[in-house]
Parts: sequence; C-alpha cells; structure tokens
Amino acid sequence: MDFSKDLICENLTAEEGVLYFAGQNTAALAQKYGTPLYLMDEDRIRQQARVYHDTLQECFGEKGHALYASKACSFKRMYAIMAEEGLGVDVVSAGEIATAYKAGFPMENAYFHSSNKTDADVAYAMDCGVGTFVVDHPEELTAINAVAGEKGVVQPVMLRITPGIDCHTYEAVNTGKVDSKFGSAIVTGDASRITAQALSLPNVKLCGFHCHIGSQVFDSSVYIATVDVMVDFLKDMLDTHGYAAEKLDIGGGYGVRYIACEPTIDIAASIREVAAYMKKKVAAVGIEMPHVYMEPGRSIVADAGLTLYTVGAVKKIEGYKNYVSVDGGMTDNPRFALYGAPYTVLPATRLGADRDMTADVVGRCCESGDIIQPDVALPGDMTRGELLAVLTTGAYHYSMASNYNRIPRPPVVMLRDGESYVAVRRETLEDILALDE
Ligand code: PLP
Repeated sequence: MDFSKDLICENLTAEEGVLYFAGQNTAALAQKYGTPLYLMDEDRIRQQARVYHDTLQECFGEKGHALYASKACSFKRMYAIMAEEGLGVDVVSAGEIATAYKAGFPMENAYFHSSNKTDADVAYAMDCGVGTFVVDHPEELTAINAVAGEKGVVQPVMLRITPGIDCHTYEAVNTGKVDSKFGSAIVTGDASRITAQALSLPNVKLCGFHCHIGSQVFDSSVYIATVDVMVDFLKDMLDTHGYAAEKLDIGGGYGVRYIACEPTIDIAASIREVAAYMKKKVAAVGIEMPHVYMEPGRSIVADAGLTLYTVGAVKKIEGYKNYVSVDGGMTDNPRFALYGAPYTVLPATRLGADRDMTADVVGRCCESGDIIQPDVALPGDMTRGELLAVLTTGAYHYSMASNYNRIPRPPVVMLRDGESYVAVRRETLEDILALDE
C-alpha cells in the first residue's frame, strides 16, 4: 500500500518498509535501547528554534526575542541546546528552574511563569538568578515584592494579561479568554489595577506585559487580534499610568501536524505577517516599539519526537472490537486521555503491509481510558513482538509522563548526524522505589 501520506514530517523516511527517523532505522534503535522509547531529532529541534530566533531578529532587529516554553519538553540537554541556539526559556516550576540551572543555562534569560508560585518557589528562583518573573495575579506580586525586599534585590517582572481572545482550540489549552485561570483581564480593569500595583512597589521593576492565548493555533489572525488588543493596552497604560512598556510577549501556540489531514504552517511567514501588523499598529497608536517576545514550545519539539512501542497482545473480540496493546500507554502519552488528541500510529517495520484491521491502540495501565489512539488501521496479522511508532510525540509527552501503576518512564534518546545518545536514561524499579521510606 502507498504509505507516503503517513510520513507527515520531512524527518520521516522509509527503506524496505521500515520507518526511518532523522535518517536512522527505528527497528535498530528499538533493538539498541529497548521499548517503550522516546526518540528526539536534535537537528529538527535546532532547525525550529532557529526559525523563531532568526525570523524575530529579521523582523524586529535586536528587539526580537524567542523563548522556548520548556514545559513542552524539559530535561538538561534541551536547555543546553536552547542556550546554544540563542533562545531564552520559559520555566514554570522550581523543577524546571533547577533543570535549566544545572544545565548551565544563562538564568538571566529565563522567564518564570506559573499561575501560582509559592514563596519557596519565588525565593529559589531568585537564588538561581532567574532574570524575569511573569506575574499572574496581585497576591503573587505582593509576595514577590516581599521576598525581593528580604533579599535586598529589585526583581524585574512582567505581568500576565488576559486579552480576552478565544483561539478556538482545545478548551484545556485555550488560555486567553477573560474567564481563564491565567492572568489579569483587560476588560474587567484587573490588568490596569495590577499595573498600578507593580508601579507602586519598591522591590519589583515592571518591564512589560505578557499574554498567551492558547495552543495548537494554525492561524496568524489569532496573533494579529492579540497584537491589536495588547498594543491598545500598552497605549492605555501609557495614558493612564504614564508607563511605557519596554517588553511585550505575545506567547506561544503555533500548531503542529499530528495527522496527515492537519495543515503545516510556514511559521516564518506567519511571524512576518504578525510583525508587519504590529509595526503598523504601534505607529498608529503612537507608542515606541517594545521588545517583542514569542515563547513557542510545541512547534519547536513536537515533530522532533517519536515514540516506539512493542506490541504485547492483539485481542480480537469477534463482532465487537479489536485492541492492540503496547508496552507503554497513558503513562508516557496522556494526551488522548486528556484532550482526545489525534495521532498517526504506524507499523514501524511493515509500512507497506495492508492495514486491514481497525484497532484501538491501548496501553498497559489498569484504566479503560488508557488509549493512545482509537480506530487505527493496522495489519490484521499483527502479533506480539512487533514494533509500533507513534509520531509527533516530542511535546507534552516526556514532560507529562507519570508513574501511574508504578510504571517506569522511558528514556529519551537524541538523534544527531547519524549518531544517537541517551539524554535521559530509562527509569528503573530502584528509581520507582527511591522515595519510599
Ligand atoms: N507560554 C505559556 C504561558 C503557555 O502556557 C504555553 C503552553 O501551555 C506556552 C507558552 C507554549 O505553548 P505551545 O507549546 O503551544 O507553543
């Protein structure tokens, strides 16, 4: 059968029916490292990071900045790669901060998000030298001011603003609406009030504003609408409080292709379109161009990732349903359970075989919702021991993985220039037991 449409990213190829990823034989990698296995294509990560970095600099010169939203995939090597590519990072927890810090990331280029930073998080972030805090709400701002005062520092902050834009994507990743749990809304007056508060506090320095409207966005018009609202807000803050924002972060969110019928986006072209609009808008309202930030996660790492599983059982319930059980599941990929997310699942060593069976590909957790993907077309003679590949698993997979049922998490193996290396080793049963007294 013709499987060319399944090769949904250019780092996927085939030789004699075997799937190759980043130019490497997936069967050989499974043999070498075992399954389940996260593979990541380092060249693709770097390529995508450069698209953001170079295009933002092309559009805004030294005022254009790319941050990597490290919640998408966080381990030490990722921070080192981002530092090498000249990106800053968005971190959302003490754990992500510790990982970046230990990786030697220049912490002045780290932006600490999260909608609820504890006092301990705040103190730890300051001790690690995190450059900028992105503040969610007034109580947090008060706490940051207090901790900074105790430490005798003035902490640079940005304020997370809710622009009131619906990006029409999954509800769980739609964050820019007025009723979002994140940030201070413009229409309610909260955004203006928190700005006044930040300007009145002695131990914080307000550097500007941040927003993020959601994820899996395929349309420049959403960013243009965001820029429209946010630039008006910047002008309003200048008129109301005499405050000229130095920085504006318009968030992350560009979508990626999980299945063949989803579009691919020309991210550089879209950024140029948004930048052109922003320059026009800034000139029209008569403010100075701020430094402009974007903070993508998914679109840098998602299609740089692929998961390999070994089939453990093919269960055919005659007249009802078929199941293909694999040696991973919702512990390494919770996204179908969370969002009903679509995936491309391929028989990695028999791409050309007839896919005459429809089956739910399920994991090995004691949970009926442990589904990686329902209704997948697979060869009817599939048996235990065969290799399955799930595509586009670089974002929000390793970083969302759990130990439910005390299942150890898979390793992350990086692929580069025909070589492979372990970036995160496989968890062991000793690791699972390590915290128990
Ligand atoms: N910035 C913020 C504040 C976010 O919450 C997220 C994702 O949840 C991102 C950036 C990254 O979004 P994406 O991975 O869709 O690019």
